[in-house]
Amino acid sequence: MNGRALFLPLLSSIVAIGCSDDTVLSSYDLRGNTMGTTFNVTLVAPPAQADLHQLKAGIQEKLEHIENIASTYRANSELSRFNANPSTDWISVLPELCDMIAAAQDVSDTTGGAFDITVGPLVNLWGFGPLESEPELPTDDEVAAARLKVGSLKLQTNCEQSMLRKTIADVYVDLSGWAKGYAVDEIAALLDASRLTNYLVEIGGELRVSGHNAEQQKFAIAVEKPLQNNEMEYSIVRLSDAAVATSGDYRNFYEHDGQRYSHTIDPRTGRPVTHELTGVTVVTSSTAYADAMATALLVLGPDDGHALAEQLDLASYFLVRTEHGIEEISTSQFAQLRQQ
Ligand code: ADP
Ligand code: MG
Repeated sequence: MNGRALFLPLLSSIVAIGCSDDTVLSSYDLRGNTMGTTFNVTLVAPPAQADLHQLKAGIQEKLEHIENIASTYRANSELSRFNANPSTDWISVLPELCDMIAAAQDVSDTTGGAFDITVGPLVNLWGFGPLESEPELPTDDEVAAARLKVGSLKLQTNCEQSMLRKTIADVYVDLSGWAKGYAVDEIAALLDASRLTNYLVEIGGELRVSGHNAEQQKFAIAVEKPLQNNEMEYSIVRLSDAAVATSGDYRNFYEHDGQRYSHTIDPRTGRPVTHELTGVTVVTSSTAYADAMATALLVLGPDDGHALAEQLDLASYFLVRTEHGIEEISTSQFAQLRQQ
């Protein structure tokens, strides 16, 4: 996680100024840690204590389950076991893993490989993987060698049979750019199944809202805008029934000889993205898709990323570093959202 969209309770109450007290509903926040970051579930007009207790347990269990399937940080996860298996035969995996991988592979197709879950060997090489250590910068030869292991065509899916196949033994799948958004969608599905209609679910800045907030207004979502002096400004969008994901180069990065290395890798060069695009926010209906598209648009940069987002009718918001400060670029869909 690096860029972030935030739910601002304060702002949503400012939005609600003028409401009489009896229009403000109660709300309940459930917070915790998951996937190396935090999660927050806000329930508007929460259910009775006993149901709430059960719901909390259900959410924790769901998050644990997803980590046990998709985390590269757990050596025993379904994904880590697949990664460690050098076989190039078809391998049976849990259906959920197969479905996640197949859906992520579709985004790879849509984005010309800018989003690519086989990027794992490069993520690890640049020190953004499970080992977390900040290594010496890799040599060109090491980058070239890792690139040979990367490419979505090296990973095949047959989800009717729940099977995956590596075309070469060294394929290593990284779902870190997919799993948080996916988990948000899964928790939302859990809440929907419990007939809750007004809520916000957020994991590490990727979020989804349904219905209205406690003030019976749309949720006010604040997108971070990093300023040059390390300060933050916020751009606000008001949303109901939408997913929001942000990718940026200003939270998870390291500096080496004055150069900033972000954890988003351009699979086409094998190197961290270094262009002037500092953050991208995507608003759409699926959080998993928003999460992946935000990463893809960050890789593609302000020109190609903006063009693809317009072509896909995707509400997207780009923050570009210029010598005069941060320039904002919105797709037509995003501009419409901001007027609402
Ligand atoms: P952000 O919020 O900035 O998108 P995420 O945690 O959602 O951050 O995703 C970043 C992670 O995705 C990286 O740490 C890495 O594991 C993985 N990743 C990096 N580059 C790519 C890429 N081009 N395609 C898919 N996944 C990537
Ligand atoms: Mg993301």
